[in-house]
Amino acid sequence: TQFSDLNLSPKVLQAVEEAGYTIPTPIQAGAIPPALEGRDVLGIAQTGTGKTASFTLPMITKLARGRARARMPRSLVLCPTRELAAQVAENFDTYSKNVKLTKALLIGGVSFKEQDALIDKGVDVLIATPGRLLDHFERGKLLLTGIEVMVVDEADRMLDMGFIPDIERIFSLTPFTRQTLFFSATMAPEIERITNTFLQAPARIEV
Ligand code: AMP
Repeated sequence: TQFSDLNLSPKVLQAVEEAGYTIPTPIQAGAIPPALEGRDVLGIAQTGTGKTASFTLPMITKLARGRARARMPRSLVLCPTRELAAQVAENFDTYSKNVKLTKALLIGGVSFKEQDALIDKGVDVLIATPGRLLDHFERGKLLLTGIEVMVVDEADRMLDMGFIPDIERIFSLTPFTRQTLFFSATMAPEIERITNTFLQAPARIEV
């Protein structure tokens, strides 16, 4: 399989090729086709397997159509740490350079003011740590009712860090019609429970 076999939009494919990639990794070859069909995905993959592109590429393809409204982000990527969120944001920039998408990174240690201004303008992609996202929500600054795609990245680390109640709360604030792409290196019972509750007939890809 090559990236050109995967039905990505031409602009996304071009960005992937310009990044120097031609052959998808196993998680990419397994997760991208069902994600592009709109299915939920449960990806069991470690860091270093190329899992970031396996959710960013279908998201960009899907979000390229449509436009964000003020305070109603269209997609959400939840990451356990600031560092991982920043890395995901960099990946988005690389792969979305040929399409016009707005993005905001909501992590601690940055002033609310700047983040508020971005949210007010409307964002296609919100990349956040769970605590910071809920801080913004409690302040009445954003709605999650417009979320079309939600990603949970490194769920096993979320579990270790005690974020599972936050994740459940965030899931419950998003519409039932959302597409969910969920990634974890391991499937602890607590993770299995969350996926059974919030994913709908997911394509399960284990690498
Ligand atoms: P990740 O597991 O998403 O953190 O990605 C690990 C590393 O693999 C990153 O440095 C990516 O740039 C790189 N990478 C992602 N996809 C591919 C690919 N299809 N071919 C070669 N390298 C890749």
